Amino acid sequence: MTIIENLEKLRKDIPGHVQIVAVSKTQPPEMIEEAYRAGQRHFGENKARELEMKYNRLPADISWHFIGHLQRNKVRQIAPFVALIHSIDSLRLLAEVEKEAARCSRTIDCLLQFHIATEETKFGLSTREGVDLLASDEFRAMRHVRIRGVMGMASFSDDISLVRQEFRGLAATFRMLKERFFAEDNAFRILSMGMSGDYSMAIEEGSNMIRIGTSIFGDRHLEG
Ligand SMILES: *Cc1c(COP(=O)(O)O)cnc(C)c1O
Repeated sequence: MTIIENLEKLRKDIPGHVQIVAVSKTQPPEMIEEAYRAGQRHFGENKARELEMKYNRLPADISWHFIGHLQRNKVRQIAPFVALIHSIDSLRLLAEVEKEAARCSRTIDCLLQFHIATEETKFGLSTREGVDLLASDEFRAMRHVRIRGVMGMASFSDDISLVRQEFRGLAATFRMLKERFFAEDNAFRILSMGMSGDYSMAIEEGSNMIRIGTSIFGDRHLEG
């Protein structure tokens, strides 16, 4: 199957309100161009340098999502153009995004990443940490970041009921934060969950943004 066929099949498979972020990490620009020709405009990367390189080479109307663990010293590299940062996992990181967004006179859209998996290796806030962040005076004073919703990665596991439970937990966190901090804010409406192996279940549990790599592009090229 070609990239175009994969995208068409995926689009047929999911409801219209669910946005696809094509995860193009490690894939060469030519493969991104192929997806672009099929109408795809949202792409996700997990390394600042690679994202910047692709931003400079590829069409200007692409929305670039940063989906990986983000180090504070890499924020400056992506701040001028990034469309959505999915991986805010601390107040310190968000403060850095605020600072760099102000430097470029932008408002940067962000998601809070929650730790929902059983694996210790995955990043993200606990529910409590997310609440504390949003309730903090420091966050409330920020004018150059906008929290659009939440993101999470489920366990890499064959245990379907575990994965479903993790998605359900993230959806509950999303609704709780919405009610508590964003009841009047229509911008807070993104629930980013689901990858190639688990997006159907994520959508059943309320996801409206899925991050899909291998089901669009095939196997990833050498991680570098
Ligand atoms: C790589 C990656 C994906 C895509 O994974 P696939 O299984 O290839 O669809 C989604 N989200 C994050 C955060 C990733 O790092």
